[in-house]
Amino acid sequence: MSRTALRRALLAWYRRQRRDLPWRRTRDPYAIWLSETMLQQTRVETVIPYYERFLERFPDVDALADADLDDVLGEWAGLGYYSRARNLHRAARVVSDEHGGALPQTCDALRELPGVGRYTAGAVASIAFDRPAPVVDGNVARVFARLLGIREDVRRSAVARRLWEEAEALVQGASPGDWNQALMELGATLCTPRAPRCGDCPVARHCDAHARGDAEALPVKSRTADPRPMQAVAALVMRRGRALAVRRPAEGLLGGLWDLPGAELARDERPAAGLRRALEERLGLAVDRPRRLGAVEHVFSHRRLELHVFRAEAPAGRVRRRVFDAHRWLAPDALRELPQSAVTRKALSLIADRGAGAAEGA
Ligand code: SF4
Repeated sequence: MSRTALRRALLAWYRRQRRDLPWRRTRDPYAIWLSETMLQQTRVETVIPYYERFLERFPDVDALADADLDDVLGEWAGLGYYSRARNLHRAARVVSDEHGGALPQTCDALRELPGVGRYTAGAVASIAFDRPAPVVDGNVARVFARLLGIREDVRRSAVARRLWEEAEALVQGASPGDWNQALMELGATLCTPRAPRCGDCPVARHCDAHARGDAEALPVKSRTADPRPMQAVAALVMRRGRALAVRRPAEGLLGGLWDLPGAELARDERPAAGLRRALEERLGLAVDRPRRLGAVEHVFSHRRLELHVFRAEAPAGRVRRRVFDAHRWLAPDALRELPQSAVTRKALSLIADRGAGAAEGA
């Protein structure tokens, strides 16, 4: 395979065919960093409105650095993987305090920032600053496995090392940012996981998998386990017409987001008993008449959650926070205005559907 011919063919195709995406209309390093962060684990169509709203609200690094974390999480709500938003906010403060508000330009310096890994550093350095920095994500790994005929598990560290070496070799030359985006574009539009469109592919004649006819079988990945089931409880806990909201600690799953109080159930624990235990252990609260309203389901990357949703009264007793880092008593309608996860929104919708908001306990 001639690297020069491969590069020429793919770059020419990219310049002709690339999708018009909002972050491709700017050279602002902050906007490019934001887009690359949002695009991790998330589809382009989902990201676009979030990206536009976020930039409108926080137009530059200093605006983001000055913002409250709650406001940042509020703009992120629904996009998932909230550690990305927390890290972005922390990194903006570092850039503002230590780099005068301008993102550093090299991969090494970018990787010093919270949440910036090898992929994001390579993407920002190449796209925003024209540095010949490689990127390998799931899309690029699939394209390389097929083009180069790599028929070993791409999750093995030796194979991952080889992918990065190939990426490093291929990014050398003019327009490293376009080259990296061309690879990602090929993986997103033609060299897709299923049914790759090899007939339309600008690099088909360089492609080992196409020549051998096994593109769809690549990349090789060892089977991963199905998401593990888990059961949890959450409750609309009422006192004199107000509902209790709790904030998760900053670190950990869904950190920094507001939630209904609850907890994961122990094995074989019954939901109502688990709810009483959780409220007692985590908040020092005893509740009257917990009433089960139903359940909602949510799939995280490795876990399938069934969340049993209750309504309960906590007429007295001081809230003692042992797990959560803040709490508020609010009108039930105001709960939806807090930064919250998709699963909490599902639980609140269930509560609204059952008409279990303010009336009973008011
Ligand atoms: S020829 Fe097919 S398998 Fe090879 S890079 Fe192009 S789309 Fe992917």
